[in-house]
Amino acid sequence: MQHTRLFIPGPVEVRPSILAAQHKPMIGHRSKAFETLFADIQHKLRQVFYTQGRVFISNSSGTGLWEAAVRNCVGDGPDHAVMATVCGAFSERWADVCERNGKNTTWLRVTEGKPITPNLLRGALQQRADAFNTPYDAVTLVHNETSVGLTNPLVELVAVIKEVSPSTLILVDAVSSLGGVKIDFDELGLDVLLTSSQKCFGLPPGLAFAAVSDRALERAKSIKHRGYYFDFIELEALLKKNNTPATPAISLMFALDQQLDDMLTEGLENRFARHAHLAQITRDWAEEMGFGLFAEAAYRSDTVTCVANTRQIDVGVMNAFLAERGYEISDGYGKLKGRTFRIAHMADTSEAELRGLLAAMNEFLSMG
Ligand SMILES: *Cc1c(COP(=O)(O)O)cnc(C)c1O
Repeated sequence: MQHTRLFIPGPVEVRPSILAAQHKPMIGHRSKAFETLFADIQHKLRQVFYTQGRVFISNSSGTGLWEAAVRNCVGDGPDHAVMATVCGAFSERWADVCERNGKNTTWLRVTEGKPITPNLLRGALQQRADAFNTPYDAVTLVHNETSVGLTNPLVELVAVIKEVSPSTLILVDAVSSLGGVKIDFDELGLDVLLTSSQKCFGLPPGLAFAAVSDRALERAKSIKHRGYYFDFIELEALLKKNNTPATPAISLMFALDQQLDDMLTEGLENRFARHAHLAQITRDWAEEMGFGLFAEAAYRSDTVTCVANTRQIDVGVMNAFLAERGYEISDGYGKLKGRTFRIAHMADTSEAELRGLLAAMNEFLSMG
């Protein structure tokens, strides 16, 4: 099979040494060897999440942990509600997941390409406070909206929630940013911070991770039907024994263990700086080539650039050209297909690799 280097926002390119780490002989998950693996991983994950607390590991993609967050943190019945902030396709789907789990969901939506602003959020929380005796159980926030290449102002948004509605749990999707952009779980005082293995972590798909606060665990205890597979209380009971309730994806955890070592060896701050640098190169390239950038200027993502296709090139034709040179980028997401295209610069991408892609794209563009 010819190797196509992926510049799509997940799954991303996985280095050969990480793929190879999955080839270790299988171990039983109730063994001492597994407990050691789990404890090592836990120790390193806490550094990446900037937390002293627990980080759950799930055999699912990030979507599974959306469901977990909602089921464990939002109560049932008329007194309970969640506010879902929506600024693109992924945050919209999380709102839908809230509804499909039977939760009373208020949508706070902005135009695609615009951020959720602190003022907007303040107004919405205030409105609830004025109309009801009970605050929202939780707010959902997507930190980096992959469909539009936009990063929401998380620090400011969290400050507003803490001020206006301090008992409201803060549920954050950082699926396409955590590991590429700094998010300090403990300092921000978040309640759930979730991500997937196949984006900034540079792993194959199949695992998801969530830091979860004591407050969120307390909330979970008050909710009757949390299901089983994603029950925080069940996960916590086993985590204390360096284990998982059901059979974990052990091969992926071998790869995770190796990749966490590599991430910490690179240094998290260096990793974040590399992502910011690659994003700047990509944005500069897009503007130089006469394209626009879809997201509002102050909120452009450091992990994925959503290019406004102002030159109206055929993205399918361009990708076919790139495929012959061993590269792949993403078309616009959903309704934005054709109007935009996306270049992911996340995980272990180097400047030389990105410049290789951009050179191939220039070659395509120069053909007229
Ligand atoms: C990719 C993505 C998801 C979906 O994650 P899966 O791991 O595919 O379930 C959710 N949110 C954001 C922001 C994403 O980029």
